[in-house]
Amino acid sequence: VKKLRLILGDQLNHQHSWFQEEQDDTIYVLMEMRQETDYTVHHIQKVVGFFLAMRNFAEYLTNRQYEVIYYHINDKENNQTLAENLKQLIKKNDIEKFEYQLPDEYRLDQQLKEICKSLSIDSEAYDTEHFLTTRNDLEKFYDGKKQMTMEYFYRDMRKKYDIMMATKNDPEGGKWNFDKSNRKKWTGTPEIPHERGFRKDVSHLVKEIEQAGIKTMGNINEKSFNWPSSREDSLSVLNYFCKNLLVHFGDFQDALHTDHAYLFHSRLSFCMNTKMLSPKEVIDSAISYYYEHKDKIDISQVEGFVRQILGWREYMRGIYWLKMPGYRRRNKLDNQNELPPFYWDGKTKMNCLHHAITQSLDNAYAHHIQRLMITGNYALLTQCHPDEVDAWYLGIYIDAIEWVEITNTRGMSQFADGGIVATKPYVSSGSYINKMSNYCKNCHYKVSKKTENDACPFNSLYWNFLDDKKEFFKNNQRMNMMMSLLEKKDAKEISKIKERAALIIKNPTDF
Ligand code: FAD
Ligand code: SF4
Repeated sequence: VKKLRLILGDQLNHQHSWFQEEQDDTIYVLMEMRQETDYTVHHIQKVVGFFLAMRNFAEYLTNRQYEVIYYHINDKENNQTLAENLKQLIKKNDIEKFEYQLPDEYRLDQQLKEICKSLSIDSEAYDTEHFLTTRNDLEKFYDGKKQMTMEYFYRDMRKKYDIMMATKNDPEGGKWNFDKSNRKKWTGTPEIPHERGFRKDVSHLVKEIEQAGIKTMGNINEKSFNWPSSREDSLSVLNYFCKNLLVHFGDFQDALHTDHAYLFHSRLSFCMNTKMLSPKEVIDSAISYYYEHKDKIDISQVEGFVRQILGWREYMRGIYWLKMPGYRRRNKLDNQNELPPFYWDGKTKMNCLHHAITQSLDNAYAHHIQRLMITGNYALLTQCHPDEVDAWYLGIYIDAIEWVEITNTRGMSQFADGGIVATKPYVSSGSYINKMSNYCKNCHYKVSKKTENDACPFNSLYWNFLDDKKEFFKNNQRMNMMMSLLEKKDAKEISKIKERAALIIKNPTDF
């Protein structure tokens, strides 16, 4: 049977069983398409990163004698949509069966189902063999339980995969979670090794993207592209992380600093989300490195890392498949404002936002706390519409694919799902930012002031948000303490807070 097998841009899995079997009459196809570059405005480095990784994967397969068809973005025969390209290829090559791997995005899942329905030949969907859970495992796990929390799911995964377990039911180190020791501020020591970067000349690719007329955002150094784009690159980022960064990963997971965009973070999300690396091999590598260097590395460092991948990453995927498509429309707090223009150029006097946004525009990257407690925090405090916030996050980061972007943004960061992912909104005043960073030291605003002209905007926005949304939080036990502090404030103070917050929300670019 002559088969056509589709490989999507985030399915670059060298280890898939497709490539372990005898190949009879099989053609593999990869396509750069406008339907993928245009569903939101992506960062230029994201488009380059995906195209480059796809091209490298196609070359890898071709070098191993697989028959590969590759549509470049400007190829004449490229019709720019999945449906049209597939139909054309099936006809031209007398294909008798169409096969694909299950997409991670709802949008593509629906589209491929529709395409298969319309074909006159057989089709079959395969697992991607990437994740440690299936699409529906979370639904089964929480069946009959009232409250979903990541923690119990994570413990179950540790047991199921026998990861860092002392006995069948007891975690190594006597605790499941070392989160409390993962909250250090970084003040110059220990030294942060330079990131494992790459210096690739991608000017040809940038030119092709420009010629195609694709609208992008952000900046790129065309002569020095810094992201991994092959299996070898990805393995070297992983090794570099284990050898140089794991030792302090947990401690400084939540730290923020003006001079260091990456601190001790791994930068592995792009490698995993494109499937150049599997989550299991990332976890296994970190753990075996830890076992070999137990005298130097504390368990809290490695547990913090494992929790993100075995816990959060799989959990978010589970929530996505459990709650889509309705999840995409959730706006529980009824937020309606626009995202301020400075999210696209970093021009604001608020130092924390200036740094987090400028770094994102320059690198297509921000670490978790920058996304959650700086840009996400501000968007929520100023009550921006979750559609606006989602579109920005989906575009700007190289690792942004809807299944993991929307659950983090709409769920964890914006509380628009009303508490499915997070039990309370991640909001803070300036004091948290000051505690975890050096941002406030050189800021135009004073973090200690509340409502004066030079007061940190986060301070009035925070109390204003709690006051505006108090109806939503009145039954949320985790908000009780903050809500009772709010109640204790006298009317005069509240009115000053609300006045300043209204000014900031109305004229964001003045701040
Ligand atoms: P590290 O800090 O080194 O962590 C290791 C790995 O753990 C990451 O590579 C990632 O695979 C995983 N991980 C950590 N936190 C999470 C999480 N909350 N959810 C899922 N996986 C996690 N991650 C994405 O991959 N794509 C996104 O589009 C994305 N959007 C986000 C939007 C917001 C508003 C927030 C708050 C978080 C978002 N995250 C997203 C999660 C997280 O911020 C990134 O995975 C992380 O910053 C990537 O950098 P790193 O590889 O250096 O991570
Ligand atoms: Fe951000 Fe406020 Fe600190 Fe300035 S003072 S960096 S605005 S938290």
